[in-house]
Amino acid sequence: MLDIQFIRNDFPILSKEVYGKPLIYFDNAATTQKPRSVVERIEKAYYNVNANIHRGVHFLSQAATEAHENARKRVQRFINAASPNEVIFTRGTTEAINLVASSFTDAFMEEGDEVILSVMEHHSNIVPWQLQAARKGITIKVIPINAKGELYLDSYRELFTERTRLVSVSHMSNVLGTINPAEEIIKEAHAHNAPVLLDGAQAVPHMQVDMQGLDVDFYVFSAHKIYGPTGMGILYGKEDWLDKLPPYQGGGEMIATVSFEKTTFNELPFKFEAGTPDYIGSTGFAEALEYVDRIGIDAIAAYEHELLEYATRQLKQMEGMRIFGEAAHKGAVISFLLKDTHHYDMGMLLDRLGIAVRTGHHCAQPLMKELGIEGTVRASFSFYNTKEEIDQFIAGVERVAGMF
Ligand code: PLP
Repeated sequence: MLDIQFIRNDFPILSKEVYGKPLIYFDNAATTQKPRSVVERIEKAYYNVNANIHRGVHFLSQAATEAHENARKRVQRFINAASPNEVIFTRGTTEAINLVASSFTDAFMEEGDEVILSVMEHHSNIVPWQLQAARKGITIKVIPINAKGELYLDSYRELFTERTRLVSVSHMSNVLGTINPAEEIIKEAHAHNAPVLLDGAQAVPHMQVDMQGLDVDFYVFSAHKIYGPTGMGILYGKEDWLDKLPPYQGGGEMIATVSFEKTTFNELPFKFEAGTPDYIGSTGFAEALEYVDRIGIDAIAAYEHELLEYATRQLKQMEGMRIFGEAAHKGAVISFLLKDTHHYDMGMLLDRLGIAVRTGHHCAQPLMKELGIEGTVRASFSFYNTKEEIDQFIAGVERVAGMF
């Protein structure tokens, strides 16, 4: 059992009022709020160990380097990667996917080679591949979904050809909440000698992920969606793969030697980390993971599931309610439309009641097209949300319904 009131005290923003109403923050899939300990860790790092890392002989630089590399090890432990060399710091999920799309395509894809995505992907797992398609003539194939918002695994199997080079799908959908069957997806791809990239932006905050257990080749996520700072994220890659991929960006840190005739590259993980990294953000990120570990990811998952069921049950009782995404295995995200109330109107009116939800296409326009809609209202929960907040939200949705 989680002591939610105790937990909420760690998040000062949750006591805020908007328009004179207590803030109800249900936009956690877009970004999560930060516990005091994360902000304090960042402040402490700036005040005590701020110096550029890796190249300094002086005390502060060495202390900052140690903090940054300890943060890498913290991430490694959190996702059960085999080595810290497999953890590349990036600006976030988006940059990590762009890195793989660019480097993997450069090294391993020719015109006519294929990458498999799914229809529920976030734009950040579509557009980087389209850029490569335009540059190199690779082909994108798309796994369809059923009415509940689950991947059609039979169709997935049929998409493989001898030209399939990689599968890149979300671990959990930011719109439907669907948690995709990662193990099956990976097994099938490996049977066709294709590596798999999982977009874990939504999965990591809500469930245990285990790189070695999954046997996944690449995994990406953002710190800001798991209570850490913005502008930080991770590319996990199996060391074998990362060794084989060419660098993504050039600059300082990623080189071994440079002359105008020839440059040799640094070893992992630095080969993929050009320029001064966010060595302060990384310590905040590490603290966020420690915070989540202290609460316990299994307890978080169980409680958030309770919130999801509690909200879903009540929404479903409303006349004219359409919920998008009813997968058997689902995370704490609900996308819905009520009668013909425009999602934007619903979002604006809920906002006036102090309730923050997200509206629109959620960076998943191909999925919206598949569903035959322009957008949804999306409520997404965290372990610091409560059933009382959900009651307020339900009352708010009913009130808006009454206005139309
Ligand atoms: N992938 C998924 C499934 C997401 O939900 C998001 C963000 O909403 C992203 C990728 C992009 O994450 P970021 O903007 O942190 O790079």
